[in-house]
Amino acid sequence: MPADRVPNSTPQLIGGIEAGGTKFLCVLADTDGTILAETRIATSDPTSTLEAASDFFLCATANRGRLAALSIASFGPLSLNPTASDHGAIVSTPKPGWSGTNLLEHFGRTLAVPMVLDTDVNCAGVGELLFGSGRGLDTFCYVTVGTGIGVGHIIGGVPHGGANHPEAGHIRLPRASDDQQFAGICPYHGDCLEGLACGPAMHARWGMAAEQLPPDHPAWEIEADYLAGLCANLTYIVRPDRIILGGGVMENRAMYDRVRRALGTKLAGYDATINAIELDGYVVAPSAGASAGVTGALAIAFRLLKRRWPTHWSVGTAPAASAAKDLCHG
Ligand code: ZN
Repeated sequence: MPADRVPNSTPQLIGGIEAGGTKFLCVLADTDGTILAETRIATSDPTSTLEAASDFFLCATANRGRLAALSIASFGPLSLNPTASDHGAIVSTPKPGWSGTNLLEHFGRTLAVPMVLDTDVNCAGVGELLFGSGRGLDTFCYVTVGTGIGVGHIIGGVPHGGANHPEAGHIRLPRASDDQQFAGICPYHGDCLEGLACGPAMHARWGMAAEQLPPDHPAWEIEADYLAGLCANLTYIVRPDRIILGGGVMENRAMYDRVRRALGTKLAGYDATINAIELDGYVVAPSAGASAGVTGALAIAFRLLKRRWPTHWSVGTAPAASAAKDLCHG
């Protein structure tokens, strides 16, 4: 044992799960931030997917000791209010078979471990807070524009949840002047923000995927108008230090300048402190990497144990950069 390590500082085992619509990424780490094992499970029906995830943790911890904390970053909507009868469940998702699936109940029963469940976007926000574009900030929003539109909120240095998690992807915005006909694709609202501006909405409106649209296609100016509308509302409601815009649609890097320009127009000089915002540093890309969500989940598990964020993990902790082998599934 190194001289500077006393017995009560022995690393404990923590788990992170990024529960997505196409895959579950499961990672076992220790509280020093070392990735010990990881696996990817294709998302199928809830029972076999969740059993495969808990089997991974049972196998990966078998010769290492007990899992001390688990954090789950999940697609939603989720029931996060501890007093709700369905606390821990995925509620009313269009994903077939998954509505009512209770994640906390399943992992509580199979792993009997202290747990935190939060949205995928809040966990990715924590990844950005510790390792990416949110470093050093007190309050910011993390937006992903892909198969849906999700917004995570870091407020006062911690992920925000109220009576339940916010759903800023479904806000209503004025229609762009040259986008009056498209009905929108949200199954609940039609032309809410997500219904107008997520990746599948662009595909439905223009007949091709966002990544196939040429850079000068009118689609991008309309898209920038809606995302700038979101950023203006987030600015007025949350007053964040920064807005991080990510997701597949933002792979078109020219979008950042378009959104900043449209945002400046929408803010229209109102409020001297807002008018002073330097938009180049205000609307930015994420930089914590593709595994920000599961890295954020691991950090939340760490915080459950230690009551603080990890300060000694390196960016290399990110599972995608890890050489850890999946010892349980060959
Ligand atoms: Zn909607």
